[in-house]
Amino acid sequence: MKAIRVHEFGGPEVLKLEEVPTPKPAAGQILVRIHAAGVNPYETYMRAGTYPLKPPLPYTPGSDGAGIVEAVGEGVKKVKPKDRVYTGRTISGSYAEYALALEEQVHPLPEKIDFKQGAGIWVPYGTAYHALYHSAKAHACETVLVHGASGGVGIAALQIARAMGLKVFGTAGTPKGLELAKREGAHQAFDHRKAGYQDEILQATDNRGVDVVLEMLANVNLSHDTKLLANNGRVIVIGSRGEVTINPRELMGRRASIRGFTLWGITPTEEADIHAGIFAGLENGTLRPVIGKELPLAEASRAHKEILEPGSAGKIVLVC
Ligand code: NAP
Repeated sequence: MKAIRVHEFGGPEVLKLEEVPTPKPAAGQILVRIHAAGVNPYETYMRAGTYPLKPPLPYTPGSDGAGIVEAVGEGVKKVKPKDRVYTGRTISGSYAEYALALEEQVHPLPEKIDFKQGAGIWVPYGTAYHALYHSAKAHACETVLVHGASGGVGIAALQIARAMGLKVFGTAGTPKGLELAKREGAHQAFDHRKAGYQDEILQATDNRGVDVVLEMLANVNLSHDTKLLANNGRVIVIGSRGEVTINPRELMGRRASIRGFTLWGITPTEEADIHAGIFAGLENGTLRPVIGKELPLAEASRAHKEILEPGSAGKIVLVC
């Protein structure tokens, strides 16, 4: 099979398309013929060798993929060959024509979701769901600011928050991203490249502040986020690419909190809840992964460059 392989940590050019043996599923494992693989920012940090999790070399990147079950190992009950599925983590990596996964890492893909959309489920929707339900414990009567609403996690968060009944604000950095944010669930969208846009957000709450901020770029925004919070407000730090200084007094008066987030830390119970919630939303049409760009598997290095550039408009997927 064809697969992207990383033999050394480094820039996007270390992603090489190679011919490797197709894996065989052992007991409890599933082999999926991957039709599309999702590209997430963490895969770029991992490839660069700067991520806390360092896979042994060589490795094939990717946790998110969608396709058809090719074969199952002994004892597998959840799916059978020819079933349509998506992966939430894999054993062998999803940037490949075939991926090996454990039974618990493979999930049924509703008929109305195509494979490219299926490749944009796990990290974006798992993150948004876990952040809103488990971490922020958001309620329908609250207001959420999705700070970075034009990207994979942001769009998922807009759709989930709208389905939960919250008042939803989103930010993006281009006219296309702002349009997308409104289309996918933001009651109001704000341009995070415009000077003073934080004042516009505060005014939109009649100066009460927002209850929850889902923060995709904390190193840039955290010191402002604390001033945008309502009493008992929560900032969930999902993404950050550097250091930041904050004034703790902004939190004290509001009895507000900043909470670190990682999807890697979920419990099996939370994971089961996340997949049940995502499946229901995909089936009833409230969750609709948005694909911004599709590239052939061979162009994985281009995908790794472009995912970090401004101007997000949904997921980047590799078609295998
Ligand atoms: P993505 O698809 O590349 O989207 C990035 C988003 O950040 C876009 O909406 C982009 O908007 C926005 N952005 C750029 N500059 C911004 C600014 N100054 N203020 C606010 N937002 C800004 O990435 P993603 O998949 O949504 O992931 C977002 C971040 O969360 C990444 O850093 C990722 O590593 C992290 N993440 C963490 C976890 C975890 O477990 N902790 C899980 C998933 C993702 P424009 O392009 O429109 O400017």
